[in-house]
Amino acid sequence: MITRDNLLAYLDKTLTPSQIKDYCPNGLQVEGAESITKIVTGVTASQALVDAAVKAGADALLVHHGYFWKGENQTITSLKRNRIKALLDADINLIAYHLPLDIHPRLGNNAQLAKLFAIENMRGLEAGNPVSVAVQGELSQTQTVAQLAQTIEQQLGRKPSVEGDAGKELKTVAWCSGGGQNYIELAGELGIDAFISGEVSEQTVHLAREYDIAFFSVGHHASERYGVKALGEHLSNELGLDVEFIDIDNWA
Ligand SMILES: [Zn+2]
Repeated sequence: MITRDNLLAYLDKTLTPSQIKDYCPNGLQVEGAESITKIVTGVTASQALVDAAVKAGADALLVHHGYFWKGENQTITSLKRNRIKALLDADINLIAYHLPLDIHPRLGNNAQLAKLFAIENMRGLEAGNPVSVAVQGELSQTQTVAQLAQTIEQQLGRKPSVEGDAGKELKTVAWCSGGGQNYIELAGELGIDAFISGEVSEQTVHLAREYDIAFFSVGHHASERYGVKALGEHLSNELGLDVEFIDIDNWA
């Protein structure tokens, strides 16, 4: 058991959200019970995840994608009303960390992808930006495009979309979880061998060809499953809390 205030203080200390400008509020988004016995973690606070948290008897739902995004409809109506009502009815705290959970050097989505894909020496892609959302590193062993695609499929349980010659050898890699495909331009300018992101746009393929950089689109959800999961495991190990990761499948 932990109080809501102590949990939030611990999360803020760990993820330091004040260091980065974001598109949503980080930390407590919907207030629930004052004391927390059970935490459910997941990628996105969809209705399915909220319902699963209610069923699991959670006092807190900790996610990467919460609510109240910059530019979204500000009213609490329709689907958003349903989700928030379910949280309030069940007295569940909704706690969300977006970019701070992408960039955390050990628990973040990018760091978790490095571990899964055997990439070493993770550092920022944007020169001089201490909180670069895109990162770069080197594969621990040279891999061909086909081999890296296979590694990605094995680790994420999802076939990536790939642009590049299957036999091309890769050593240097840049990556950004989620919708980070536009960073391919910076990676291309820097002459990096491969770029990995959660999503792809029409123009990404042209840029990959013209920069001659291998590109892997691995799924937004799949690329952001592991940060919040690692954060939950950290809370369980460090604070002895009851934490359950629930994956609501999403192929996108
Ligand atoms: Zn995302």
